[in-house]
Order: sequence, then structure tokens, then C-alpha cells
Amino acid sequence: MFWERVTEEIYIFTSERYALVNCVALVTEEGVVAIDALPFPEEARQIAQFLDLRGRGRFHSLILTHYHMDHVYGLYAYPQNLDVIAHELCRKKLLDVGEASLSQARASDPLFDEVTLRIPTITFEAGELQMVAGDMTMRLLPLPGHTDDNIGVFLEEERILITGDSVMAIPIIADGNWRQAIVTLQQIKKLAPETIVQGHGEVILRGEVQAVLDRYINYLECVEEQARKVIKRGKPRQVIWDIPLETCGLERVPLGIASHQLHVANILTVYDRLRAEQEGHTDVPSRA
Ligand SMILES: [Zn+2]
Repeated sequence: MFWERVTEEIYIFTSERYALVNCVALVTEEGVVAIDALPFPEEARQIAQFLDLRGRGRFHSLILTHYHMDHVYGLYAYPQNLDVIAHELCRKKLLDVGEASLSQARASDPLFDEVTLRIPTITFEAGELQMVAGDMTMRLLPLPGHTDDNIGVFLEEERILITGDSVMAIPIIADGNWRQAIVTLQQIKKLAPETIVQGHGEVILRGEVQAVLDRYINYLECVEEQARKVIKRGKPRQVIWDIPLETCGLERVPLGIASHQLHVANILTVYDRLRAEQEGHTDVPSRA
């Protein structure tokens, strides 16, 4: 795990063990607000211990951007009395699939034996949720697309947006909806944050925010275009494996998960969805 600060009170921790996933902590006079946690217990414990010292034992709350396990698991390392704030869909998803996924993780790696699932205790469904801790004002806003339940945290004073996986080094929509993801990226452009802490990969700094968001939007538009081409030409589904990431304007990122595989999963998801729509089965789930 490595960490950096974007201001004196805002820390970003990045996993060295899993896909450069990020979590964030805000040190306020009313205690530490932790946004997401890293999946592996050792890293999660280290961060919780560090923040316990840094905040002199005072925590304010935990915020969860979405239900994916690489953001959820490490929350177990924080005091159990803390509220976990998330979108209502995140609570539902975790109640639905959380324990089963955790059992699977434990079966593949006993390191996860010490993890217990934290289910959100405060949720919101429509609109935004505003939260104040010390002199920090946080706007929790829905940013769906990567998943239905993804939220972002916009720090008003600093104009920093913590996006969960609605922004990530390679957009992933295999568990979500690419059209929704594009709309969300456009909304983030309008919000015009000065800094973006994306779900995976490096911090996007002032001056590059708009260009990076454009690159991700173009990428998702290209994914749709590629899927449409395969359908139009009547080619077999397997040809999608031969479409390089670079065709859609992104470079391979050392996420640990193979970039090409993520990219192929994206096109396959869109391909299946478009085929289903053409055949009139619009109720087909979008999950790959
Ligand atoms: Zn995710």
C-alpha cells in the first residue's frame, strides 16, 4: 500500500495488492471520515491504525462508494459503532450478494477469514445527501454507470471529487450500463472538479481533468461502435478478443488485472446488450 496527500487533511491510500484500488480519508475536527477501504486485511488494518493515530482516536463516519468487494471488505477494520453511509441500492446489493461473495473469497484465500461484512446503516435514494464534518462540506451524489449504486463524494471547499469506480483508469461497465456511464462522465465534466480521485489508478490533477474525462467518454463510445461493427458485419462473437484497447484510445494500465481482458469484457457486454435489444429482449440483465 502506498499513500499520498492532496491537502493537509486529505489522504489517499492505494493498494499494491489489488488493481491499484484507492480509498480516501478526510481528517476533520469532528473525526476522520473514511471513504471506501482496501480489500486485503493487512493493508486495511494498517490504514485504520494510521488514521486512528492521525485523528487521535476519533472517527466520524464511513462512506462506501459502491458494493464491489475491493471497496467494501476493509471497512471491517474500523470501529464497529461507526455508521456506514451509502446509496440505498448499495445496501440492497450487499444484503443480496455480500455474504456469498465473502464466502467465495474466504474459500480462495483464508486471509479473508477475519473480514466481516459491513452493511450500510444510513442510505439515500433520490437526489443528493449533504454532510458536514468539521469545516468540510461533502456532497454525496449518485454517479451510476459502472454499477447502479455508485456514488461520488464532492468536497465543496476543495472542489475535489472522489468518484468510486464511475471514473477509473480503464472504464468498466460489465456490471453496469455504458450509456449511463457516459451520461455520468458528462455530468462530472459539468461539475468541473479541480481534482478527481478515481476508483483505481492515479489522481487526476487540475488541468487534466476535462481531457481525461473526454478520453474515457470517447473510450466508451468507441466500445459501442466496435460492438455494433461486429454485429453489422455478422462476425462471430469471438472476434471481439482481437480488438486491441489502443483502438479505443486508451493505453494499457498496470492495474494487475489484464487491461485487455477488461476491455474485451466491456465490448462483449455491449455486444450482448445490443443483440438482446435488437431481438426485443430488453429485460436481459446487462451483467457479463
Ligand atoms: Zn467497482
